[in-house]
Amino acid sequence: MKITLPDGSIRELADGSSGLDLASDIGPGLAKAAVAVIVNGIQKDLSDPIDQDSEVSIITIDSDEGLEIMRHTLTAQVLARAVKNLYPDTKLAIGPTIADGFYYDFEFKKAISPDDLASIEKEMKKIISNGSSITKTLHSKSDAMNIFKGVNESYKESIISESEQDDNFQLYYQDNNEFVDLCRGPHLPSLKHIGAFRLTKLAGAYWKGDSKNKMLTRIYGTAWKNEKELNAYLLRIEEAEKRDHRKLGRELELFTFSEKVGMGLPLWLPKGTLLRERLINFMKKAQDKSGYQQVTTPHIGHKALYETSGHYEKYGKDSFQPITTPHEGEAFLLKPMNCPHHCEIYKHKPRSYKDLPIRYAEFGTVYRYEQSGELHGLTRVRGFTQDDAHIFCRPDQVKEEFIKVIDLVLYVFKALGFSDYTAQISLRDPENKQKYIGSDEAWDKAEAAIIEASAEKGLETVTELGEAAFYGPKLDFMVKDALGRKWQLGTIQVDYQLPDRFQLEYIGSDNQKHRPVMIHRAPFGSLERFVAVLIEHCAGDFPLWLAPEQINILPISEKFISYAEELKGILDEAGITGTIDNRDEKIGRKIRDSEVRKVPFMLIVGEKEQEEGKVAVRKHGQGDLGVFSPAEFIQYFKGIISESLAKE
Ligand code: ZN
Repeated sequence: MKITLPDGSIRELADGSSGLDLASDIGPGLAKAAVAVIVNGIQKDLSDPIDQDSEVSIITIDSDEGLEIMRHTLTAQVLARAVKNLYPDTKLAIGPTIADGFYYDFEFKKAISPDDLASIEKEMKKIISNGSSITKTLHSKSDAMNIFKGVNESYKESIISESEQDDNFQLYYQDNNEFVDLCRGPHLPSLKHIGAFRLTKLAGAYWKGDSKNKMLTRIYGTAWKNEKELNAYLLRIEEAEKRDHRKLGRELELFTFSEKVGMGLPLWLPKGTLLRERLINFMKKAQDKSGYQQVTTPHIGHKALYETSGHYEKYGKDSFQPITTPHEGEAFLLKPMNCPHHCEIYKHKPRSYKDLPIRYAEFGTVYRYEQSGELHGLTRVRGFTQDDAHIFCRPDQVKEEFIKVIDLVLYVFKALGFSDYTAQISLRDPENKQKYIGSDEAWDKAEAAIIEASAEKGLETVTELGEAAFYGPKLDFMVKDALGRKWQLGTIQVDYQLPDRFQLEYIGSDNQKHRPVMIHRAPFGSLERFVAVLIEHCAGDFPLWLAPEQINILPISEKFISYAEELKGILDEAGITGTIDNRDEKIGRKIRDSEVRKVPFMLIVGEKEQEEGKVAVRKHGQGDLGVFSPAEFIQYFKGIISESLAKE
């Protein structure tokens, strides 16, 4: 038979040869590194016979697919076997791989605790050190069910009985047939290929995810090619946990949640509110300079408004239900989007081509129902405030408006310390133009405008065909945070649909009626999600201009409190916010507490400082900066802020 390799070359092999035979035929090095094969697009075990002319590629342990197979073998063959060795009356349920690792669900006779994970790990290492080879046999449905009945594995039995397949159930054994598991495969040919791993945690999980079923015990683990990669991963996880915005939000007293108020509805505390206000003021100032006008619209709107906009169709059934009034047939919706309101503002009087572009901005709070299981800190909530704006412009103005919005987005990224970002341009599928609304000519123009605007701003972009919404092309920004995680922020979206649905018009220079183009844009996205990303990016060490508490005045003893108050008055005047730590504590303790709260500057005042009318300044995470007069400190402080807010 003819085997076609990924490079297009063809090898002649005897019918029924396996992936291993093929690897050996290519070279002994490959035979050693091979763990599985892909035959005509389907992953197979290395030992499976190939029975006809096929396209084959070999998976080695060094590839991502190889790593995935290793994780799979580790959970299904090693973790499961270790648990059965230590707790013979445990029942096996399922053991899939997940991002970075794997889990296995067990029914233990007697509950285990996280302390038991160490002994399970030890047993796993013992099993791996034997380097057993793994073999596979194929069975009919009844045969496979009987085998698992014999070893009292009722979950495996039920998986097989519910399967639509009648034959070819794959049972994997280790050398002495002492351990058997049912699996779709493929598995490593031998446990020798297993790299470095760690069991990470225990959790409860219902059989088939259904709360009517029995609660099983889920053991999670992670696995990597070697110790070095495992340790790097564990460090990343530890760092991510330290930066978790839910944890820092609580510790820094920024926001809280109350079940009584409602899940997914954040309550902003005074410091968090100050942070929000600073973000809002920052954005308002930048928008004022770019020709935006602020508008204000209510939190609810008539149901008919959202029927016109199409949002009722999109969010209606799966979101908050209409609010009725004593008046029969009247219904309002919590607003899921600000756009329909802004369209009505555009419509309140006739518009001429000379009026455009019109840019309406609003920090509009919107409400969308999310399943309770989907809620997560500030990143998935049921009510959030968008830094929303809608630009109504002529088709010939799209490019210029795009450039302005890109400028604004990049300014936001710079001021907030996101230096690593890329942009994605989402265009129409050229093969499938009838899927999209708006004229061909308008699309061509808008797409060219986005491409040219991005090029003029020197953005690093990827272009995705077919990723545009049916109502217009868009540009999305992805920022990389300090841990290398990617977040989507700042979408700019062209829209031909809403102007149509709302019958928006302007009178052109030809005295005829024309449709304006609408651009939706939100550099932060939502304040809630943005604050979450920001907290995790800067680990709670906010840029100075944004920090809710910028200074903390630390009197060495009670004697210096009045001087501290005098000082605070001067700083308040200069717009610098902070508090005095007037507790009866040692200065070392006050410094430590201030460091924990991540206050950017500590101003220490004692005998000498009071006499000279000065302060000893300490910077968070850095230590002493020396002695400053209040005026010198204010100048230094303002210098830092104006640099981070400068427009390059
Ligand atoms: Zn919008």
